[in-house]
Amino acid sequence: MAQREDYYKVLGVKRNATQDEIRKAYRRLARKYHPDVNPGDKSAEDKFKQLSEAHDVLSDAKKREIYDKYGSYSESIKDAAAKGAGAPGGFDFDWTVFSRQQGGPGGPEPAGGPSIRDIFGDLFSSSRGPSYSRPQSQKGADIEIPLALSFEEALNGLTTNINVRRSDPCANCKGTGEATSGQVACMTCSGTGKISTGGGFLKFDQTCPDCGGTGKRRQPCPACHGKGAVSKYETVKVRIPAGVDTGSRVRVSGKGEAGTRGGPPGDLYILTNVSPHKIFTRKGDNIYCTIPITLPEAALGAKIEAPTISGKAQLRIPPGTQSGQVFRLREKGAPSLRGNTRGDQYVEVRILLPKIIDEDSKSLLREFARRNPENPRVALGLE
Ligand SMILES: [Zn+2]
Ligand SMILES: [Zn+2]
Repeated sequence: MAQREDYYKVLGVKRNATQDEIRKAYRRLARKYHPDVNPGDKSAEDKFKQLSEAHDVLSDAKKREIYDKYGSYSESIKDAAAKGAGAPGGFDFDWTVFSRQQGGPGGPEPAGGPSIRDIFGDLFSSSRGPSYSRPQSQKGADIEIPLALSFEEALNGLTTNINVRRSDPCANCKGTGEATSGQVACMTCSGTGKISTGGGFLKFDQTCPDCGGTGKRRQPCPACHGKGAVSKYETVKVRIPAGVDTGSRVRVSGKGEAGTRGGPPGDLYILTNVSPHKIFTRKGDNIYCTIPITLPEAALGAKIEAPTISGKAQLRIPPGTQSGQVFRLREKGAPSLRGNTRGDQYVEVRILLPKIIDEDSKSLLREFARRNPENPRVALGLE
């Protein structure tokens, strides 16, 4: 076994250090070398064990006396000292036993005993999260409300009023949840202002997180029953920008639930659901529709009118247009939410054949076929 360091050197205190100095030195160094702070660092772990060992002995007046007298301490030295015998050589401090004792009976504990938060919670409260400090102010929760829009409303945008059930900080207690007068003993610490953590000789009192060490808490605010916020219905004016689609989320800042302890309110989100249109469909910022054209328009070409979301537009059908051909109308689509641009509109044409019943038309078509005898299925190997 390695040579044991002098306990006073380990803790960096003078031989005549007071109990308070020893305790402070230990806590300062244990914070630094605790295995939770130095995961996987074997030398830090060893150092922490040394610190704990030194603190165990020097913080106990009886053990310290024996240590000062014999230069080491163990149960056997204690027994021998009690019998007036000289110090036996060496001693043994069993860290594994120490760890197990710290873990308490039955409870699952990580190797190395209680976690640093258990032991030093009060010291870490400012730097290691809010769990040991007084409850921090927190932003309020967001609220999400669905809104049904017509196809046109989604494209054009609109401003509307929405009835929202949300909360505001309680005016009576200004959001603290506590009555302005009348104090009761803090339930968490039974009015002592301190709670104990850890166990064995690593047991520390720490400032009660719920009352901040005062041991007293105000009674719950009668207006909000301690919640710090009151629910109500509020009419919120919502501006839906042009170009939203099904699934768009429009944020209304600050119209969510009240924050706690002075925290800012959450936000309101309007989730839009756009109904389908009887002519147009939409994919992103582009709009699609299908329109019929006649056989002569397809064969000879034509200028026709096509519907767009902003009225009629001219569409030129070139001669020889096939059924299913798609034409693009630039920037006739939906306005983009991301910038000052618009999508395009795509128009698919379908040749709609009339039902020919008069004999003149039929003979005209027969004559047309006789003059245009090509077979469109040749490429498929068909006659
Ligand atoms: Zn209140
Ligand atoms: Zn308390």
